[in-house]
Amino acid sequence: KLPTLAIVGRPNVGKSTLFNRLVGKKLALVDDRPGVTRDRREGDATLLGLEFRVIDTAGYEDEDPETLPGRMRAQTIAAVRESDAALFLIDARAGLTPLDEEIARWLRSETTPVVLAANKAEGRAGESGILEAYGLGLGEPIALSAEHGEGVVDLFEHIRPYV
Ligand code: GDP
Ligand code: MG
Repeated sequence: KLPTLAIVGRPNVGKSTLFNRLVGKKLALVDDRPGVTRDRREGDATLLGLEFRVIDTAGYEDEDPETLPGRMRAQTIAAVRESDAALFLIDARAGLTPLDEEIARWLRSETTPVVLAANKAEGRAGESGILEAYGLGLGEPIALSAEHGEGVVDLFEHIRPYV
């Protein structure tokens, strides 16, 4: 069984873009229970020769387990707890939001190691967002561009200890 990395972060930071880049065409849907397929995608990733399982999570907004967002949050929490590391993405261009802070607070309370990455950092537009990310208390953020494939070597070096 391959070690597992869960990609977490608020909506629109680029989790699925990174997932697709890591997994390429080997995408696998893993669960056909209602409300689960759409929440969680898993696949085998290859990064500079490193092979691991990757989970694309969706949702950390609603605590009510009776609602779909609530179930998505529960799925996200479960994915992190069963993973060898969590890759926490923020949007370097948008800067931090209250939901980023909330997710950071939650991740600091978990025992799963966290790798922090500031995505959309191509060009210079992300510099202030990267600086802000230092304030999350989760270590040095990796500057990443999932869309343009930048920051791959840094990402490799930061997740290699765990996968
Ligand atoms: P998710 O909601 O976290 O899964 O985010 P998505 O992967 O769906 O991406 C949300 C939006 O951000 C899409 O329009 C992507 O094309 C865009 N995006 C993802 N990665 C990057 C990046 O590295 N740079 C820029 N500029 N946009 C990105
Ligand atoms: Mg997504």
